[in-house]
Amino acid sequence: MFVNFIKITKESVFLDPRNNFESQTVTIEIRRDPLTERVSRIFPFRKLVLHRHDWTPFVEESKQKFCPFCPEVVEKVTPKFIEAIAPDGRIKVGDAMAIPNLNPYEKHASVVIMSPRHYIPMDEINVQTMVDSFRAGLTYLQRVTAADPAEGSYPSINWNYMPYAGGSIIHPHLQVLTGPEPTTFNRQLINASTEYFMRCNQNYWTDLIYAEIDRGERYIGKTGDVHWISAFAPRHVGEVIGILPGKQTIDDITDQDLVDLAGGLQKIIHYYDRNNLPSFNAALYFARREDRGFTVHVRIVGRFTIFPLVGSDITHMQVLHDDPWTVILPELIAQELKDVFNSPQ
Ligand SMILES: [Zn+2]
Repeated sequence: MFVNFIKITKESVFLDPRNNFESQTVTIEIRRDPLTERVSRIFPFRKLVLHRHDWTPFVEESKQKFCPFCPEVVEKVTPKFIEAIAPDGRIKVGDAMAIPNLNPYEKHASVVIMSPRHYIPMDEINVQTMVDSFRAGLTYLQRVTAADPAEGSYPSINWNYMPYAGGSIIHPHLQVLTGPEPTTFNRQLINASTEYFMRCNQNYWTDLIYAEIDRGERYIGKTGDVHWISAFAPRHVGEVIGILPGKQTIDDITDQDLVDLAGGLQKIIHYYDRNNLPSFNAALYFARREDRGFTVHVRIVGRFTIFPLVGSDITHMQVLHDDPWTVILPELIAQELKDVFNSPQ
């Protein structure tokens, strides 16, 4: 076992105006991701209490405006794929539908409209919607990869739920894309996984699962074959990683995997909702068959705003220094989610 959990604890001292300028010591923690060694800062060792955010006014306003994804207009106003990708123009799975992205940022970029419903509150996001949407995204990626292997090398499936997470349209949708090179972070994951495999002759992701089970601090549980872990060095608040051992490419993902994946995501999304995290980003990462040591996994992070109405949870640290931070201890999230995963629903 070669997984190292490195953390440095520091104490910051100041004279506290809230206590007659007496000396006050605050503890901060700097952690390094066991695979990529990327830094993450853990701010205070307490649970952040967030205000409940009500999306109703935004949702009502959006209903008054034009929504291209609503069933009355979607077939008329959204683009169609070329025939080589989809003879019918669009890829439909259950209620989900993949269409070309009208504002692509890769040669091959799709949007999956997840449901005919204009707005799905977090506590109503269900397994079937996610399974159908992921399958629509995967089908698109498989067709693109078959038609254009070089450009289809590095796919990902991504979800920005609501405006705090960058979702510009309220109607639930996924961002699906693939390119000849991985995204910057996916490249780090793939390269570091290969290096780990070459150095240790082991798969990092399998080692991580066993290391976290052994420690018991951040291991949350299983849904089918998917293992869920609260990230040791989170990229953002509430980061949870779902790992699918033995899976490496988009072709490895079975329908049962999607059910297992969606089952875990649903529990996490509902947990975020109960804890007033009103928005989230999620991403499914894949590699090529020849990228040794990599394992397919999903990451989900909560998004919020510091103030009830306006603001952002992204600061100079993420944007200009590439150092993410969190205000919720990963071990606390694991503890609470463990109860959620263990309780029958
Ligand atoms: Zn809509």
